[in-house]
Amino acid sequence: RPLILWVRRDLRLGDQPMLAAAVASGRPLLPVFVLDPETEALGAAAKWRLGLAVAAFARALEGIGLRLVLRRGQALAVLQALVAETGAGGVWWSRLYDPESVARDTEVKAALKAGGVEARSFAGHLLHEPWEVETGQGGFYRVFTPYWRAVRGRVVSAPAVAPSRAVAPAVWPASERLEDWRLGAAMNRGAAVVARYQAVGEAAARAKLAAFLDGPVEDYAAARDLPGVAGTSRLSENLTYGEIGIREVWHAGLRARDEGRAGAESFLRELAWREFAYHLMHHSPQITRTNWKPEWDAFPWRGDNPEAERWRQGMTGEPFVDAAMREMYVTGTMHNRARMIAGSYLTKHLLTDWRVGLQWFADCLTDWDPAANAMGWQWVAGSGPDAAPYFRVFNPAGQAEKFDAKGDYRRRFIAEMSRNPGSEALAFFEAVPRSWGLEPTQAYPAPVIELADGRARALAAYGSRKT
Ligand code: FAD
Repeated sequence: RPLILWVRRDLRLGDQPMLAAAVASGRPLLPVFVLDPETEALGAAAKWRLGLAVAAFARALEGIGLRLVLRRGQALAVLQALVAETGAGGVWWSRLYDPESVARDTEVKAALKAGGVEARSFAGHLLHEPWEVETGQGGFYRVFTPYWRAVRGRVVSAPAVAPSRAVAPAVWPASERLEDWRLGAAMNRGAAVVARYQAVGEAAARAKLAAFLDGPVEDYAAARDLPGVAGTSRLSENLTYGEIGIREVWHAGLRARDEGRAGAESFLRELAWREFAYHLMHHSPQITRTNWKPEWDAFPWRGDNPEAERWRQGMTGEPFVDAAMREMYVTGTMHNRARMIAGSYLTKHLLTDWRVGLQWFADCLTDWDPAANAMGWQWVAGSGPDAAPYFRVFNPAGQAEKFDAKGDYRRRFIAEMSRNPGSEALAFFEAVPRSWGLEPTQAYPAPVIELADGRARALAAYGSRKT
């Protein structure tokens, strides 16, 4: 009897424990991707990028004799219907860890089992299952450094080899067409954005990893902080959809470290930040929605406001912040240092609730990840575990001097700052909605708030909070 493989954020053939076990079972395999309400709710850029990942994976499956069946609806109903249609004896999937997915998958598992269908979930998205890593006292880690100490030398099993052939079912069930789902409908951001994503999928991700470990990793420890330099792996968009397996990336990083590549240790450490985000989200799922430290509920955050709108538009008059926001709008990604500065500016200088920022990032990032995004926002806001203390307010101007000393990053994304702006700076004006009323020829805006005033207001609010 066939086995249904319910694929979600594991869109690859290699380093895929669930797929490897399924192929080894010798049973006919029926991979299905379900466009369920949780997936429908993704932000514009993430949903568009997911569509590219699904298309690439469907092609990869054809290479091993399978197809990707596409169905839309509530996951449980779709899976039950497929079981009935095909006589499948089981449904397998790789685990997800965000609270919404956990709730859905728990329900699916229980209902399938109650109906006599084998339902099995596998590891695969992480190096370590979040419950496997424990403090000496048996609890979970709230601070990164001891977590890193705990996982740095922990054994990570070798990545499973990609299957070269699998058994197909005698009859393929009907599939919907990916084009009809219009996953890019809300991603109306122009050709310049789309052109950046020509190479997606597993082979492209693997090539990116190899190119990174072949050169940039050498200087990674320092270059990773410079937004004007292409010094990082740019693998986050691949990792978030599982286009490449984290074990494969980890083992490649270990090899680079063993070969004496200078920045490899820092790279491994960043991979552990991703793990840590998942560790935190598993043990305190509220991190995606509410202040991780409840005492922050009394803090006078402002909800959405006109300055936050200027922030979204990359028009705050603070060049480092605006470059960051424009980078995200036109490329679907934002450098890590810039994420910290833009986030800090919103939550501190503009005294705006971090959830306003989290939502905008979720709409604009092609690498949107429920755990990393929530941890990142609670970190910049000061409300999260292991967060920067609130009174340490990043100064965007000082940060620009330090990390973008020659202004390359700012000029690259802010057309008004150059006499002869480059294509990415101009692409921003083509990509933004007309309703924003932005033109590259207009003068660069005056700051929406003086940095000293914003800082003073943030510190006063912090000092007077009722905690
Ligand atoms: P590299 O520097 O090459 O690092 C390698 C990998 O390690 C990354 O691909 C990523 O998977 C992981 N990683 C690196 N830094 C972090 C980090 N700080 N936290 C968690 N994982 C990390 N990352 C996302 O993947 N999705 C998000 O939605 C996201 N939102 C963020 C929001 C804020 C406010 C902040 C401050 C950070 C956020 N990050 C997010 C983390 C980080 O900015 C990105 O992972 C990183 O910029 C991706 O670039 P890269 O792949 O070149 O990273």
